[in-house]
Amino acid sequence: MKDTWPLLDKIAFPAISRGTLQTLQVNVGYRCNQSCVHCHVNAGPNRTEEMDGATVDTVLAFLARRRVATLDITGGAPELNAHFRRLVVAARDMGAKVMDRHNLTVQEQPGQEDLPGFLAANQVEIVASMPCYLQDNVDRQRGKGVYDGSIRALQRLNALGYGREGSELTLNLVYNPLGPSLPPPQDALEADYKRILSERFGISFNNLFTLANMPIQRFGAILLSQGQFDGYLDTLVHAHRDENLDGVMCRSLLSVDYRGYVYDCDFNQMLDLPLGRDGSERVHLSALLDQDLSGNPIRVAGHCFGCTAGQGSSCGGALKEAAE
Ligand code: SF4
Ligand code: SF4
Repeated sequence: MKDTWPLLDKIAFPAISRGTLQTLQVNVGYRCNQSCVHCHVNAGPNRTEEMDGATVDTVLAFLARRRVATLDITGGAPELNAHFRRLVVAARDMGAKVMDRHNLTVQEQPGQEDLPGFLAANQVEIVASMPCYLQDNVDRQRGKGVYDGSIRALQRLNALGYGREGSELTLNLVYNPLGPSLPPPQDALEADYKRILSERFGISFNNLFTLANMPIQRFGAILLSQGQFDGYLDTLVHAHRDENLDGVMCRSLLSVDYRGYVYDCDFNQMLDLPLGRDGSERVHLSALLDQDLSGNPIRVAGHCFGCTAGQGSSCGGALKEAAE
């Protein structure tokens, strides 16, 4: 797979620094039951990297000591990590909000039959990928049969109260474009999703987050092989808006890899750009229990325009809407 980093590294991006930590985003491993075309993690069924129990303990110690408001668990399919449920329960016990980056179809993997009930019982906020409301587009990007499996999973979650009016169980969906283009306006697309999923399947959800595809990993390699890398980067750079710089997620989020090393965001984690601190090449979460990272410079490069182009992208979707 061709690496886009040598090209991204040459593209200057405005200097930014970290603010107050609000979210610890923990990648518990790269194993996934799917192998989506646009996966910026390059996850799949054959990946074996996985967070172990001792590192999960470090995550919990950090959450408790730093009183982090939100634990955002990602992967791969995070639920396939053997320590996932222990991590969720312990974080909820200490009062943290817990978010699960959930691919929906994992509910139909062996041993995961009770997963929806577990997530509901622990009031875990679900952020689920659903790159289109049309079957062809979803199956093309995420694999054959993924659309039908996703619809069944959403119906299961709705039956438990997720995404239903008056319920405290939050179900958010994530959209990303199929090709090298910016996402359309979030509000209008959310209205279309809600109407079509409700009419066809009786499905409801809370919010749709629109995210730009990052020109890294699998998607970056496809851009390179199809000669579209420069054009896509031009699109992102020309659509950059300075006002989006305040809302980029790296200001308030710390990303942790499966070994416990930290990064300014999940994308930097995938590019192996560790958080820079006191000249160390890598910093482990266990070394930060008593450290405040506010003001620390963020490692930026060309891929960061994926966060500031157009309406902007963060883990909570378009920046304007996410801030409201
Ligand atoms: S479901 Fe998510 S983690 Fe798994 S391959 Fe697809 S994008 Fe990657
Ligand atoms: S990719 Fe986005 S979140 Fe990550 S460092 Fe760049 S601007 Fe921040």
